[in-house]
Amino acid sequence: MSDIIQKLIQGFQVLPGVGPKTAQRFTYHLLERKKDSGLNLAHQIDNTLNLIKHCQSCRNFTEHDQCDICQNPKRQPHQICIVESPQDIMSIEQTGCYKGHYFVLMGRLSPLDGLGPKEIGLDILFSRLLHEQTIVSEIIIATNSTVEGEATAFYISEQLASTSIQITRLASGIPRGGEIEYMDPHTIAHSFQSRQEITSIEQ
Ligand code: ZN
Repeated sequence: MSDIIQKLIQGFQVLPGVGPKTAQRFTYHLLERKKDSGLNLAHQIDNTLNLIKHCQSCRNFTEHDQCDICQNPKRQPHQICIVESPQDIMSIEQTGCYKGHYFVLMGRLSPLDGLGPKEIGLDILFSRLLHEQTIVSEIIIATNSTVEGEATAFYISEQLASTSIQITRLASGIPRGGEIEYMDPHTIAHSFQSRQEITSIEQ
């Protein structure tokens, strides 16, 4: 087999759920029948990966310094919803139930994987809050209901306990182990509406 073809087959395998067989099918499908679409796809991948960066305020993906949500004057700056990934923003936005701002961790606390507070951008978040503490009145923690997501929520609420900001967590509508990305809009909207305040931690 041609080296070039072999490299494309290997290339497709970076995608989740794509093994050697599927990668081979993709490659021959493009070569045999979808040359123009394949070239267009290559161009879109190149464009997206080169032009998209992180929003300076919330770490969402954007081609500008600030994302559309942060730039939108109609969004309410007194609420910040903390999520694990930009895909969670997509899921929450589809419900239409939230009009505040976001902050994306791009992960969750996971000391074993070397992911500490700095790696998930908490230094950026806390310094943003220091500057906006008169504006922000509520932090909604919408990390996933996994062990690491819960530990991350606990850490953030502990760090902000001494501030006057109200800290809330999405309600139990999210099943344990549940990830926002896979939840239906109705369940997300419900857990937003019935979110609960995290009370300060008792020693
Ligand atoms: Zn943003």
